[in-house]
Amino acid sequence: MRINKVLLFVAMSIPAAAIADSTQPQQVPRATVTTDTAMVSAANPHAVQAGVNVLAAGGTAADAAVAVQMMLNLVEPQSSGIGGGAFMLYWDAAEGKLSTFDGREKAPASATPAYFQNTEGEPMKWWDAVVGGRSVGVPGTLKLIEHVHSKYGKQDWSELLEPAISKARQGFKVSPRLSKSIESAKERKLDMFDSTRDYFFNEDGSALAAGSYLTNDDFARTLRNIANNGSTPFYTGQIAEDIVAAVQTEINPGELTIDDLANYDVIEREPVCVPYRAYEVCGMGPPTSGGLTMGQILTLLNNYDLAAMGPSAEAWHLYIEAAKLAYADRGMYMADSDFVSMPDGLLDKTYLASRAALIDPAIAMEKAEAGSPPSKDGLNFAPDLQIEREGTSHFSIVDQFGNIISMTTTIETGFGSRVMTNGFLLNNELTDFSFKDMKDGKPVANRVEGGKRPRSSMSPTMVFKDGAPVLAIGSPGGSRIINYVTQKVIAILDWEMDLQAALDLPHVVNRNGSTDLEADTTAIDYQPALEALGHKIKVRGLNSGLHAIAIQNGELHGAADSRREGIAAGF
Ligand code: GLU
Repeated sequence: MRINKVLLFVAMSIPAAAIADSTQPQQVPRATVTTDTAMVSAANPHAVQAGVNVLAAGGTAADAAVAVQMMLNLVEPQSSGIGGGAFMLYWDAAEGKLSTFDGREKAPASATPAYFQNTEGEPMKWWDAVVGGRSVGVPGTLKLIEHVHSKYGKQDWSELLEPAISKARQGFKVSPRLSKSIESAKERKLDMFDSTRDYFFNEDGSALAAGSYLTNDDFARTLRNIANNGSTPFYTGQIAEDIVAAVQTEINPGELTIDDLANYDVIEREPVCVPYRAYEVCGMGPPTSGGLTMGQILTLLNNYDLAAMGPSAEAWHLYIEAAKLAYADRGMYMADSDFVSMPDGLLDKTYLASRAALIDPAIAMEKAEAGSPPSKDGLNFAPDLQIEREGTSHFSIVDQFGNIISMTTTIETGFGSRVMTNGFLLNNELTDFSFKDMKDGKPVANRVEGGKRPRSSMSPTMVFKDGAPVLAIGSPGGSRIINYVTQKVIAILDWEMDLQAALDLPHVVNRNGSTDLEADTTAIDYQPALEALGHKIKVRGLNSGLHAIAIQNGELHGAADSRREGIAAGF
């Protein structure tokens, strides 16, 4: 009885128009959604609906994550899926325990530091490296959701794949964002391979228009196989063989082998947590730089009364300076800690106090140098300036038992490597490695190595107060992710902003270079004051995709970034 009632309520809680065609224009102002039992916030209404239905039928956050991820793979194929990797934070309410799971892609065992270099040792051009099988790392997302489902799920695995299977068969309407992404990726060779050309383009070579119907029988078959057999066919069976064959592209062939796939493991890692004001902010550790870099920025800012300043040039100046210092350390030291002896003192209080002393409230520093954090193995690295583009998706889920998931999931740049097999795209995550392996005789921490995971910026985050979770948040956005998530955490905790308003707050971004202000927003009002302090300003579009749920006084508040097509919904 209860479930029926809940289901009815759920059906009413997601705007019909949003579900029907997910053609909501971008940049539509939205309002925070409030419910009292369970919620999903994700980048596409179909995915949210699939997740909310699972929760309403008594499923856990781990169950809902399976349905959400598979639906995202179908309807937002450019951003994430089983051909990619992900990081997940999982709050187990019964145990009162936060766990973090690493489903990041891995380099093939045969890869060497020269993987993206020509015979003279010169690094390849970034886009030349992206397109084709060479950029494809061993995907981890499927094993990640399977692993977490086996640990924390209650519902039948195969049932959870049904919504995506039937939608793949029946078809869905191409969203405006997907259509636009296909259009712009055409210039970046999305139509170079038969499988992607056939799937994303009309016969005349034009991009599928928003609202056109797309079915994906290959993906439905793949999911049916995975529904019946779990991840086995993907890592050791027919799909594994197809992946290995698919990366053998004519241009830029990859080196992935069946053994690489068979040897893939999801790794449970220690969460990275820092105290901030009355809260504890927790994120993901290496191989992502997200948790550590966010932790540094927040610790550097803990000394300042940002609440009193409010969103102002004064506060943004301090934020920018802290971000420069943290990104300098990120570039020098952060990489896959299973391969690189990273300094253990990146969050050391005394070290960060010395870094904080470099911030001058009256003048901008030119460019921050990396510091010398305590390190038992010494410091001998060269900085990494690798670029990262913007694909990726983030979702947050709270179930009726109080379990929470914050997961950022990616195939790296939009449409990944452009190589498609069995109805899904393969990632280009290996281009997150530094193409240069040495500089001035010193090794770059994030150089390519066999079996290593490329450094990420993904920052799935949870915030706790007195040991209880109060916020789950994260975003896509390449190496700007850390900025997006950190400053929204500040907006929510220090400025006590309404959740939707916080996500929509115009971005001010610095990655230890110029400061980016979000075009066509009030962020540009800060330009004169920031320039007066010595900041170099660029105004540009900044495409975050923040999806958050806050927990307050027994209520759930959900919000979805107005810059994308997602929604928050629940019951
Ligand atoms: N590949 C990037 C990373 O792992 C994410 C790219 C994006 O957000 O679009 O940090």
